[in-house]
Amino acid sequence: MGATNAKGGFVPPLAEKLVWECPACKGFNSTKLTKCKKCGAEKPKE
Ligand SMILES: [Zn+2]
Repeated sequence: MGATNAKGGFVPPLAEKLVWECPACKGFNSTKLTKCKKCGAEKPKE
């Protein structure tokens, strides 16, 4: 299944497949990006 969001907060349900959450800064990035736009961390593989 998908990732868990234990901290809650901003979790757009329909955008779940369009974005990925950065494990480093918890920011959301477009799936078009391979690195976090905020901190530069690489997109985690699933
Ligand atoms: Zn980040």
